Amino acid sequence: MESIITTKSTDIGKLERTGAHSHIRGLGLDDKMECRPSSQGMVGQVKARKAAGVIVKVIKQGKISGRAVLMAGGPGTGKTAIAMAMSQELGDVPFTSIAASEVFSLEMSKTEALAQAFRRSIGVRIKEETEIIEGEVVEIQIDRSVTGVGPKSGKLTLKTTDMETIYELGQKMIDSLTKEKVMAGDVIQIDKATGRITRLGRSFTRARDFDATGPEVKFVQCPEGELQTRKEAVHTVSMHEIDVINSRQQGFLALFSGDTGEIKPEVREQINQKVSEWCEEGKAEIVPGVLFIDEIHMLDMECFSYLNRALEDSMAPIVIMASNRGMSRIRGTNYQSPHGIPIDFLDRLLIISTQPYNETEVREILKIRSDEEEVDMTEDALSVLTKVAMETSLRYAIHLISTSHLVAQKRQAAKVDVADIKRVYSLFLDEARSVQYLKEYQDEYLY
Ligand code: ATP
Repeated sequence: MESIITTKSTDIGKLERTGAHSHIRGLGLDDKMECRPSSQGMVGQVKARKAAGVIVKVIKQGKISGRAVLMAGGPGTGKTAIAMAMSQELGDVPFTSIAASEVFSLEMSKTEALAQAFRRSIGVRIKEETEIIEGEVVEIQIDRSVTGVGPKSGKLTLKTTDMETIYELGQKMIDSLTKEKVMAGDVIQIDKATGRITRLGRSFTRARDFDATGPEVKFVQCPEGELQTRKEAVHTVSMHEIDVINSRQQGFLALFSGDTGEIKPEVREQINQKVSEWCEEGKAEIVPGVLFIDEIHMLDMECFSYLNRALEDSMAPIVIMASNRGMSRIRGTNYQSPHGIPIDFLDRLLIISTQPYNETEVREILKIRSDEEEVDMTEDALSVLTKVAMETSLRYAIHLISTSHLVAQKRQAAKVDVADIKRVYSLFLDEARSVQYLKEYQDEYLY
């Protein structure tokens, strides 16, 4: 994954940051899941984008968990870009992105780091009990000035235990009653915060027992317990957040600092059990999200066996991996394998391959990136930059956009021109020239 961040300054002096993939807004597919040639910041790579679209659809349906996808292709062919586009398309689903090398740290074991990444990618949608008043409409006639039709004077008689709030809600409630076409005998729910009314059903028997006459709006107090006040609201947290909050004193502070330490397996087991109970009681719902692991060849055998096991779990997220390696040694062994991934693990992956770009596509991507970085460039400069990208790499050429802009600004030019590109091309080496340089001057380095 690319970590270079460029900055752009605007005329009001505000500093904004433009990430490597900030131009990506989605996969750029139409309703029939066909690729638009250049849309939502995405260019070309038609097959891979379509395949990614199918996976997004499957995830959105929420029926499948524990699938693993491998994005395989050369460097700079858009593997990370497509994964980012998938996360944009998914919207409200947890998305975690790590580089495989991140799991090797002194702070925690590699399987613990993977476990935390997994748990970050599993959402729990909690339906918490919050303020909802239940009431029964005894009689309702709403004024014509509110509805536009019906009787001139209106009255509403409602029996409820929560008289105070009902009075407070006043007109808001009447508006909602009109909209919901509530009738006498309906049992309704009233949202305490907004006054919104939902019809739950009808109860003719009780309606007759109450006084049906009175002022425009009349509420009848009914015995405590006969009708209930309860709460209902939904919010989503990740399993990792629940783990951290429950495993340490002041756990929520650890969430902000990122210093979460290792979490005991017993804590996770208890939390799994609790969450399963909530799900059974209808209080919560599991939302499997997406875990993106870049440079997958950096994982070793132990990590792969952990992944294999973790994917079997019914709560598992969709794991998207990326690799730009061909046949490579599996880390920690002497075995060669495609992408450095053990064959039996490879066998359970859906593989999407990305292809090298042609010149037109590269030019289009560079144009989109210049616009994103608010860099104005002459057509000739863009042609030269495209040539540079074809001969070196797309990534290298993208880096030259902001640097050439600085050079242009120095000579007080509004647009980047060919000379500016040439200048930065000579200042910064691409990978091939850097290797060449090392070969020529290696005697002058320490070894
Ligand atoms: P690596 O294997 O080196 O990690 P990668 O395949 O993940 O490379 P990206 O990082 O996705 O490549 O692409 C390099 C740059 O080009 C990024 O800034 C990315 O947003 C942009 N890019 C790549 N492909 C496309 C595309 N099809 N449309 C628009 N932008 C793209």
